[in-house]
Amino acid sequence: MGRRVYRKAAEVAEEREVWRREISNPLFLCVPQRLLRLCGESEIFGFFRCECGLDRPRGRFHVPRMDTQNVFVPRGGKAEIEEGADFSPKFDADGLIPAMAVDATTKEPLMLAYMNEESLRRTLEIGEAVYWSRSRKEFWHKGATSGHIQKIVEIRTDCDQDALVLLVEQIGAGACHTGRNSCFYRRVVAGTAKLEQISGVRSFDPAAVYGKH
Ligand SMILES: [Zn+2]
Repeated sequence: MGRRVYRKAAEVAEEREVWRREISNPLFLCVPQRLLRLCGESEIFGFFRCECGLDRPRGRFHVPRMDTQNVFVPRGGKAEIEEGADFSPKFDADGLIPAMAVDATTKEPLMLAYMNEESLRRTLEIGEAVYWSRSRKEFWHKGATSGHIQKIVEIRTDCDQDALVLLVEQIGAGACHTGRNSCFYRRVVAGTAKLEQISGVRSFDPAAVYGKH
């Protein structure tokens, strides 16, 4: 090794396709963060033992080289952050940034989730929403289980770049695990501590899509 080999664009595109598929592979999701940081080579092939503690068989994994286009510029001064052309997202103390998914056509809010640096990079790379699940502590490629993928139409960030709005094309019946199109199906009745449904219709059967939970 050691000699850098330049490859054909078609070959690289094909490998990206492989990665697109493998991002949904549970083995891939268990690749330790430190391996994801090893990005000096185009890709890393190998075998690993899952760190999640489950005695799964070792599997082949494939980690793409981080695209230099998708490396975030370190945050500069207020003027650069507010007016500059560099995307320098601010991740909170837990390494997360909130991402609000909005339907690109109807502008209806769909869901709120969080991304860490790596999931945001993967989102940029594949053009589909990849969140970080705080409860499961793993990458969450939205739609990997349900097929309800969110295709990224546009990503916006706010003035201080500590929040994201994803304008998405929601594929499939809906974004919410309750079977609704949107997670925001209720509103607070004005001046009260009560909720009322604004679009309670379930567009799919969550049990059939996600299995029992
Ligand atoms: Zn929901």
